[in-house]
Amino acid sequence: MKCRCGIPCATRTSWTHENPGRKFVACKFFNHETGQRGCNTFYWVDEEQTYWQRDVINVLVAEKHRVATDLSIVKARFTCLEHEKKRLTEELDKIERKPLRAREAVMEKGSAPKQGGFKIIVICVVISVFFNFMFMKMFG
Ligand SMILES: [Zn+2]
Repeated sequence: MKCRCGIPCATRTSWTHENPGRKFVACKFFNHETGQRGCNTFYWVDEEQTYWQRDVINVLVAEKHRVATDLSIVKARFTCLEHEKKRLTEELDKIERKPLRAREAVMEKGSAPKQGGFKIIVICVVISVFFNFMFMKMFG
């Protein structure tokens, strides 16, 4: 089927709050900034949803985004921990190569906070805050 512009129509899925997951056929020319189409050819493929169906889909969509955001945060934290593990392994390796007396001296100093470790923790916090902020901005 062709629209009034003479080009084949597009079948798309709506993800608006009013019609989540509902398929429609419309003109392919669509400007996302103005919301205008090339012509006014537009019709729904699926039947209208009931209120409860619409609400359930909206809840599931929001939940899916929340889970995706959580996963991103977990992945970012995991990457940070991998870096921290690598750094600590290298440090441990250096200590083990030192002669016994030098090693005892390191032990006496105790585990003073390391600059590198602190930086990684700060980066992790910044990444987490960023994802939380993005999530809140997208879904209120
Ligand atoms: Zn058109």
